[in-house]
Amino acid sequence: MTTELLFLRDAYLQECDAVVQEVRENAVILDQTIFYYTSGGQPHDLGLINGQLVTEVRKVDGDVLHFLVEGASMPAVGATVHCVLDWERRHRLMRTHTAMHVLCGVIWNEWKVPVTGGNMEPLVARMDFELPEVPEGFAEKVEKLVNEAIAHNHPIEVSFLPRDTAVVDEDLIRTKVSLIPDSVPEIRVVDIVGLDKQADGGTHVASTQEVGVVRVVKMENKGKGFRRIRVSIVE
Ligand SMILES: [Zn+2]
Repeated sequence: MTTELLFLRDAYLQECDAVVQEVRENAVILDQTIFYYTSGGQPHDLGLINGQLVTEVRKVDGDVLHFLVEGASMPAVGATVHCVLDWERRHRLMRTHTAMHVLCGVIWNEWKVPVTGGNMEPLVARMDFELPEVPEGFAEKVEKLVNEAIAHNHPIEVSFLPRDTAVVDEDLIRTKVSLIPDSVPEIRVVDIVGLDKQADGGTHVASTQEVGVVRVVKMENKGKGFRRIRVSIVE
């Protein structure tokens, strides 16, 4: 069952109608959705389907399952339902996700090391990278560079490239675009113009100023040059 993922083309959609394709216990599969499912370090959305709480959104064997609160009256297959996002949460996740790209871009530009992993919750995130030596004042410098990049107000553009084109793109190579399976014909590219370009399925704000102010909360040494940086985003 293929669900059209509306957030891939428009992350600012807050409501939509959808047709129920399948009902599995307390979860529904829809023909299209605005709900982001947990993936790529970004947690799932919350919100309402026909006024009932969506408690989790998860991809299981290729199907996007929207779990409704226990005791919800489940809609019938074929019914049209109305979906509404918890926009405050989603927008915070979009700001946080975008801040992580800015962080990636800054760390790459300044120290030429790639980010190896990360995770986020609304307005807090961590990112991992490898750096054998951490220079004096590193956290302060990262914070300064990130906030300068945000203030520069880089636009963020989403495009879809044929896989053949994406795998030879210099900027995408460093983010390991070649690891995306051959079966994927089209690759979604998120470009913070002039700063960071990645193959990415997440939701982002439209330009960097919308992120807000980023604070580096903590630097951790996880051993053998493995560093973890924790950030928070100030309202
Ligand atoms: Zn992203």
